[in-house]
Amino acid sequence: VYNFSAGPACLPEWVLNKASEEMLDAHQSGMSVMEMSHRSSEFEDILNTAKARLRRLMNIPEDYEILFLQGGGSMQFSMIPMNFLKNGADIINTGQWTKKAIAEHKKLGKTNVVASSAEDNFTYIPKIKQSDLSEDSDYVYICENNTIYGTKYKELPPHEGKMLMADLSSCILSEPTDVTKYDLIFAGAQKNIGPAGVTLVIIKKDLLKDSDTLPSMLNYKTYADNNSMYNTPPTYGIYICGLVFEWLEDVIGGLENMQKINHQKANLLYDYIDSSSLYSNPVNKEDRSYMNVPFVTGDKELDAKFVKEAKEAGFVNIKGHRTVGGMRASIYNAMPLEGIETLIEFMKKFEAENAK
Ligand code: PLP
Repeated sequence: VYNFSAGPACLPEWVLNKASEEMLDAHQSGMSVMEMSHRSSEFEDILNTAKARLRRLMNIPEDYEILFLQGGGSMQFSMIPMNFLKNGADIINTGQWTKKAIAEHKKLGKTNVVASSAEDNFTYIPKIKQSDLSEDSDYVYICENNTIYGTKYKELPPHEGKMLMADLSSCILSEPTDVTKYDLIFAGAQKNIGPAGVTLVIIKKDLLKDSDTLPSMLNYKTYADNNSMYNTPPTYGIYICGLVFEWLEDVIGGLENMQKINHQKANLLYDYIDSSSLYSNPVNKEDRSYMNVPFVTGDKELDAKFVKEAKEAGFVNIKGHRTVGGMRASIYNAMPLEGIETLIEFMKKFEAENAK
């Protein structure tokens, strides 16, 4: 099947094949990675190799730390304010995942929603000016790619004199990222990095501070001080993340190439949707995501028929989020161009059969 799930999402076949080859004897250990002690030299090598590959891939400077956590993207909604909220947080509301971050921030301190696209069902990215920010806030918080609504920041908001915290859960590794523009990046692994259960954090080292009040597991420094192994880390998940990094480096040839492929895939689908008289995409063109493409027919019954027939034809998990309706094709890194081409063929056939 072609799996258009928003996450957990499809993984590169290359990665799954390599993982299955190594299942019973990983790194000449005579066992699976799942069975290895996280204190073993074999696992330490797996983790350090994954970090080194990610550092090369994303060009992460040495003054940033790479951390593997658990708790999903959602734990970051609390961990960021617990670690960094003092005078206020400026959050741009672009949908479900910032709404949740706002709710968690509100429990912990002053939370300023400095812009929002809620009134238009989050179909665009609000553009803000430096003067829209609160004078005394500590940081600006954004969700860079909005998985549910299919929007993406093409330019970061101004944040002079403030830190920038960004949720890259659904766009990380889809394109080159200038890490130096951020203070903290986080991403749940289950879309473009690997399996659910791992959360990647990239954080400026000078933000890591000891704390007498924060629980150890909720302080980023604990993870940095212990090479992400303060407690038992999600070992198998980290191993698969490492294989995805290897695929991106050695098979795809880096993030510039990945971006080209992703643009080709997304443009093909958007061009067809724009030319079709049945389907439409509600998102402001300049804010369209390269990873999540929502589309509707404008008729709920026809949408349901599409989802059903698509599934029968081998296009699975293409139903849109309940807050948007219709369909959503999540076309992360691992979705091959062929998957999009075949989907478009199906969409054309469905359009011809159901033209009004
Ligand atoms: N942020 C974004 C952009 C997401 O798409 C998601 C989940 O899909 C989350 C955060 C929440 O992630 P998790 O389920 O890992 O907590």
